[in-house]
Amino acid sequence: MSKYFSKKYALLTPYTPGEQPKDTQYIKLNTNESPFAPPPSVVQAVETEIKRAQLYSDPECTALVKKASEIFGVNTKQILPTNGSDEILNFAFMAFCDKDTPVVFPDISYGFYSVFANLHGIPYKTVPLKSDFSIDYRDYMHANATVVIANPNAPTGLCLPVWQIEEIVKSNPNNVVVIDEAYVDFGGESCIPLIHKYDNLLVTQTFSKSRSLAGARLGLGFACESLLADLNTLKYSTNPYNVNRMTAMAGYTALCENAYFMDNCKVICENREYTANELTKLGFEVLPSKTNFLFVKTDEIGGRKLYEELKKKGVLVRNFTSERIKDYNRVTIGTKEEMEIFLQKTKEILKEQRQ
Ligand SMILES: *Cc1c(COP(=O)(O)O)cnc(C)c1O
Repeated sequence: MSKYFSKKYALLTPYTPGEQPKDTQYIKLNTNESPFAPPPSVVQAVETEIKRAQLYSDPECTALVKKASEIFGVNTKQILPTNGSDEILNFAFMAFCDKDTPVVFPDISYGFYSVFANLHGIPYKTVPLKSDFSIDYRDYMHANATVVIANPNAPTGLCLPVWQIEEIVKSNPNNVVVIDEAYVDFGGESCIPLIHKYDNLLVTQTFSKSRSLAGARLGLGFACESLLADLNTLKYSTNPYNVNRMTAMAGYTALCENAYFMDNCKVICENREYTANELTKLGFEVLPSKTNFLFVKTDEIGGRKLYEELKKKGVLVRNFTSERIKDYNRVTIGTKEEMEIFLQKTKEILKEQRQ
């Protein structure tokens, strides 16, 4: 830390992104990216768009927002595109939390929530998941705080039904409820329709998981007009051109190809069920996932050890250090071929372990 660094950030522990190794060619099952490349139409549109890169992007992302409004069944004033959904989550922490309005989220969830809270000096409280790692929606009713829930949750993969989200939203009329739907396309049910009924609900989605654009950085926020106006105030006070030209075009074209991505999601879900079955046969405990990853453990080998052994064999998964989940690994669902290799290597490791 330099002597110039503001004291208000001195104690900040930044978010640790998953490994993006540059040396070895790993089978990458550690950051929940899609194993499928974007379709040729998206690639082509971006190639054309970069020829106009001397011009600023459209700060309103008009074409993207219009297309998204058709697909998600909302009007154009209820959508805000951002630089990844991380950005809209950041805006939400800035906009709807402060010293007098703390934030609450599950103890096991997306690691960025506590980082944002610390960054903005917002007091936060975590609610322990139940022993089966599920969220009890009643823990968030009448919260008297801003509520942030990933649904489906990460890294557990478990999902709440929309009616339970609605109970949370309904019981917190004086606070905003943020539902992070990064994984909703893999079997969850979106609560976007609830934004027509409640003025305290913000739903976020991302193009990083189901839409093969993690490297393009694109997220969407959905909320009633007044909440979006607040978020826009922060956007225009930070970076009006937060979504670059190529990314806005990639996102627009991707939405025009929605069927391609939804078909890919089906394949991922099939591969997930296959992998879950195979792991169960090998004696793993596998949480029922509605996402593009599995959260798994076995008594035969520690979580960290399995992660390390898989890495030696060229397969990267995600292991967490926090006490409650250190025996688990989060395994992204890739292609069938990738999952076969993962399963094969896992079998080898268990066999070596038994010797
Ligand atoms: C991946 C992820 C995000 C962020 O995605 P972006 O790449 O920033 O759009 C947000 N929330 C959860 C739970 C995620 O897993």
